[in-house]
Amino acid sequence: MIRFSENISLKSFNTFGVEARAHYFATVSSFDELKSLIRNFDPGEDKHLVIGGGSNLLFTNDFKGWLLKNEIKGITVAKETEEEVFINVGSGENWSDFVDYTVDQGWGGLENLSLIPGTVGAAPVQNIGAYGVEQEMTFFNLEACNLLTGKTSVFNKLECDFDYRNSIFKGAEKGKWFVLNVTYRLKKHPKLRLDYKPLLDFFRETPKNKITVKAVSETVKVIRRSKLPDPEKLGNAGSFFKNPVVLHEKFLQIQQHFPEMPFYTMEYDTAKIPAGWLIEKAGWKGKRMGNAGVHQQQALVLVNYGKATGKEILALSEAVQNDVLHKFGIALEPEVLIL
Ligand SMILES: Cc1cc2nc3c(=O)[nH]c(=O)nc-3n(C[C@H](O)[C@H](O)[C@H](O)COP(=O)(O)OP(=O)(O)OC[C@H]3O[C@@H](n4cnc5c(N)ncnc54)[C@H](O)[C@@H]3O)c2cc1C
Repeated sequence: MIRFSENISLKSFNTFGVEARAHYFATVSSFDELKSLIRNFDPGEDKHLVIGGGSNLLFTNDFKGWLLKNEIKGITVAKETEEEVFINVGSGENWSDFVDYTVDQGWGGLENLSLIPGTVGAAPVQNIGAYGVEQEMTFFNLEACNLLTGKTSVFNKLECDFDYRNSIFKGAEKGKWFVLNVTYRLKKHPKLRLDYKPLLDFFRETPKNKITVKAVSETVKVIRRSKLPDPEKLGNAGSFFKNPVVLHEKFLQIQQHFPEMPFYTMEYDTAKIPAGWLIEKAGWKGKRMGNAGVHQQQALVLVNYGKATGKEILALSEAVQNDVLHKFGIALEPEVLIL
């Protein structure tokens, strides 16, 4: 049954823990519930936003429309062969719990993405990634409901147009779809991805045939817990900015002044520079502006020291952006959705 309320506080529905209110708020736990809600929307008037765990959002204002909190559950094996498992999962499942489930079965592909907060439905929208792996590497397809028509469509990998923390659902089709379920294609005898330096260092002495999917997942969890603030204790939304990709020429200009600058060479004569390094070098690591701050250990993470408003966190993010632009000539782009 649809539960819906008016003028509800969103403080407990975003990991920054900022106060904002939604005019209308509904929890959706099935496609049928969503369809009946859509029938009552005014297509010309109503604004809607689907949320999962609220771990990549910053509310700077009240939301004047329908906030749809996704609670669609269920995990089923859609197809299985000697080598592979196609697993279909309800978009409201907790991502980290889902990854643990696949790891417990010994199925490989998602272990590097352990402990990322949020829901399964947001994973393809954001094309989440960590420790050398992006969800698109194991994504098979997804089913989504059009929020205007109530009709469903299946999107394959190509149609999702995945890119770095990006997909068609953040671009051309932004705000039009509610992802209902996602299918991942996992391996029963996986080739583990250990090329990311902290993982490589951890497993350097371990014989390759002794490294399991579970061991990789546990190691990723230990590293993440040591590096990232827990939103339960200190409000945050993970990396606030994307790592900028710059033309090689621009990269060389900056490198002349900062030969120690880390980078990853990318295709089309470009280089990716860690945004956290730029922010730290600009002197922002650990700085506070009122109730908002740049995390002391991880400069890419902005935090709420308890009473920050969304506007305060936005002001801090803009101050960081302006300073990085001034010092390096690089425009940082937020990864977090600012509302
Ligand atoms: C401590 C911390 C660490 C993090 N680490 C990482 C990391 O390592 N890698 C990484 O990539 N991200 C990371 N993140 C960001 C975040 O976990 C991901 O972006 C995650 O996918 C967000 O999931 P969510 O359910 O909370 O989405 P929300 O924040 O609720 O929504 C995010 C966006 O997805 C849309 N959306 C959500 N669900 C649906 C749906 N069912 N259908 C259509 N649209 C939908 C929303 O409208 C919004 O645009 C981190 C965040 C935190 C707080």
